[in-house]
Amino acid sequence: MNEPASKGSVTLVHLYPREMSIYGDLGNTRCLATRLRRHGYTPNVVEHHPGGDLPAQVHLVVGGGGQDSGQARVEADLARIGAQLVHAAADGVPMLMICGMYQLFGNAFITADGTRLPGLGILDVTTQGNPTRMIGPVVLDTAYGPVVGYENHSGATTLGPGQEPFGRVLAGHGNNGGDGTEGARTGNVIGSYLHGPILPANPSLADALIAYAVERATGRAFEPEPLDDSLADEARGRQVRRLTSTRPGR
Ligand code: GLN
Repeated sequence: MNEPASKGSVTLVHLYPREMSIYGDLGNTRCLATRLRRHGYTPNVVEHHPGGDLPAQVHLVVGGGGQDSGQARVEADLARIGAQLVHAAADGVPMLMICGMYQLFGNAFITADGTRLPGLGILDVTTQGNPTRMIGPVVLDTAYGPVVGYENHSGATTLGPGQEPFGRVLAGHGNNGGDGTEGARTGNVIGSYLHGPILPANPSLADALIAYAVERATGRAFEPEPLDDSLADEARGRQVRRLTSTRPGR
């Protein structure tokens, strides 16, 4: 059987997959590449390691979580390629940054022992490490519908004035356990604490990122194929019901 012609090629950059990809965040890259293929596009996955150069054309950028030590290891390289990322973000390139990379896309992450890791400032957020971690399953209300995931972070993140969150916390801690916000979103750049990994568990979010990326890559609107997401939908529905329907006040 002949393969149908590709609808276009999409370049996806995964930032620091060795240092920043804990709790299965590599699954986000695999999910995007697999869904692009199933929708009829050709994914071109580029791993960016410290010392490397970003490709000239980038349509989608993802980054994952990491230990404080992993964040310190990528810090200098992130500063080196920072201007390109800031420019691409302002130009509308979709980006998904999870946990440790979310913190580094903000203004700064101050670790629990007081070390200040400066961020790129693409998202107007600042994170302070704490001795107590925020851990557990999460349910959010977002512009992409209900989103589920799992958080594990010491950093408490505060949004700057006017910074839009990624979602509102229906269950879990979110940015700081206090203000009911989770993550941050500016244009097509999303930062979030949610592992899971987040994209296989929330396919509509994956397809929203793909739609932005396909438009950039091909100059045409995203033409999705019907995909069977029933397993993900069932799993997400269960997490939403388990965490939001039995607790009074939640
Ligand atoms: N080191 C950061 C924190 O604990 C990020 C953790 C993570 O990426 N899971 O806040």
